[in-house]
Amino acid sequence: MVEVLKGVYSIDHSDAGNHSMESWVLNCNEGVIIVDTAMRDTAIEKIETEIKSFGKSWKDVRLILITHKHGDHTRNIPKLVELTGAPVKAHELEAPLIEKAVGTHIDGLPDHTILPYCGEIEVIHIPGHSEGNASYYLKKHKAIIAGDTIFGDENCNLTTPPERYCLDAKMAAKEIIRLLKYDFDSLLYTHGKDIMKDAKIRIKELLEKSN
Ligand SMILES: [Zn+2]
Ligand SMILES: [Zn+2]
Repeated sequence: MVEVLKGVYSIDHSDAGNHSMESWVLNCNEGVIIVDTAMRDTAIEKIETEIKSFGKSWKDVRLILITHKHGDHTRNIPKLVELTGAPVKAHELEAPLIEKAVGTHIDGLPDHTILPYCGEIEVIHIPGHSEGNASYYLKKHKAIIAGDTIFGDENCNLTTPPERYCLDAKMAAKEIIRLLKYDFDSLLYTHGKDIMKDAKIRIKELLEKSN
């Protein structure tokens, strides 16, 4: 249970011997947002504990936002929809793919859609890891929730998404550059330790090394 930025909570879903795994909950004035769902049954309890920690409950959840279609980010969508009644949204190229995988309706968001929560949240389409893979820019927090747009490790060493997990690894590496038009310091991503300072510089260094 870690409040990494004001009202932004990182939930650790990793377990011993397993790869690191995160999802997020945002406590906005407009309501609670869940970003990605993780995959194990235990994730539901962890998300609920997090929401209760700031005095809210399932009925306060207004939106479930998904970065991309992979099971480790989407498998709990049906359960969370049942518990919250909230709409689920993802980039418009990804929405039908997620819908097919989990059997729940997903609203499609065009690139650069601004969601009116926690100040502003902007959809950034970064294709390559999957068709409609998205990162989300939290303008007020100067932070990016990158999902699998970027990978890393427990020592904050960043990498481009590994080829074995990608639709097109070259494209995934190249299109990370789309993040650089945003003003941000923090990078929250699924597989690795979050970077809370100078994240934009770190991404520039990664791009110089990898492209
Ligand atoms: Zn993925
Ligand atoms: Zn993943």
